[in-house]
Amino acid sequence: MNEFDLIRLLTRGLTTNSHVRVGPGDDCAVIDLGVPNRHFLLKTDAVVEGVHFTADTPPEQIGHKALARNLSDVAAMGGRPIAALITLALPETFQPSFVASIYAGIDALARRYETAIVGGETTTNPGRILLSLTVLGSVPSDRCILRRGATPGNALFVTGQLGGSLAGHHLTFEPRLAEAEWLATHFHPTAMIDLSDGLAGDLRHLLRDDALGADILETAIPISPAARIRAREGLNPKPALLAALTDGEDFELLFTVPARSSVALLDAWKERFPKTRLSCIGKIRKEPGLVLRSNRGSREINDHGYVHFT
Ligand SMILES: [Mg+2]
Repeated sequence: MNEFDLIRLLTRGLTTNSHVRVGPGDDCAVIDLGVPNRHFLLKTDAVVEGVHFTADTPPEQIGHKALARNLSDVAAMGGRPIAALITLALPETFQPSFVASIYAGIDALARRYETAIVGGETTTNPGRILLSLTVLGSVPSDRCILRRGATPGNALFVTGQLGGSLAGHHLTFEPRLAEAEWLATHFHPTAMIDLSDGLAGDLRHLLRDDALGADILETAIPISPAARIRAREGLNPKPALLAALTDGEDFELLFTVPARSSVALLDAWKERFPKTRLSCIGKIRKEPGLVLRSNRGSREINDHGYVHFT
C-alpha cells in the first residue's frame, strides 16, 4: 500500500463539522471560524531521523526544515502563518545543547515570518529523533488557493529550480511565503501546491485525480545546477532532467493561471522577485496524462519517470 492509498483509507468518513471548508487532501485544512472575510489554515508535518535528515545533520537545520515544510504548505494556500506548536520525541540519551539548537533553528525561521511558538510537548522515542510541528495560519477567504481549480488551457508555472534538493536545499530552503501571498493577491492562481514529492507526482494533485492532463515543455523545466552536477558526478543515478521531474523536497510553488495572464505575470514577477526564477513549463489539457514534449517527440511521464513514447 502506498502513502496515498493509506491516507485515503485513514481519512474516509472521518468526523467533520460546519466549520470545515477543506478537510484532508489539500496542503492545509481550511477552517471557517465565522471571522468575516477570513479563513484559518491548519497543517501538521513531521521530520524523522534517518528519513528526512541524518545523524550528522546540524541541529539548527533539523529545526529549520521541520518548520519550513509546514510554512511551505501555508504558502501553497496563499496564507500567512500565525502560530506553531512543537512535538519533539528524543532518544533517552540526548545532549541538551543539541536540543536547544534544534529550537534555535525553528525560532530563527519563525521570527522571520512572525510565527509565534506557543507551546509544545517533549517525549522519548527509542533510537531516533522525531520532530513534528503544527502550524496555524490565515488567509483572506477570497484568496485561499486550493489544489483543485485548474481548467484546461491554464498555464502551468513553477518557481525556482528543480532537482538539486538533496545537495542541501532540502535542509536550508526558504518557504515561498512572500511569493505565494503576492501571487494570490495580484494573479489569483486557479490552483497551487508546494513541491514535496517531485514535479511529476505533485502535478497530479492539480489534475483532480487524473480528470485532467498536462503538456510539459522539456526545455522549459528549470533544472538546478546542483542536479546537473550530481548527475554528472554519479551522485544521483538519474539524469538531471529526470531528477528535476521526480526528486522530492524542492519546496517550490507549482501553480496555474489563466493563459491570458501569463505575460503580465512574468513581467510583474521579474520586477518584484528579480532573484527568483519563474518558469512557464506548460499547460493544463482536457485529456488525462502528463506528456513531456521536446523537438525529439513526446513521452508520457509518471511519478517515477518516463512510461513510454506516444
Ligand atoms: Mg504541500
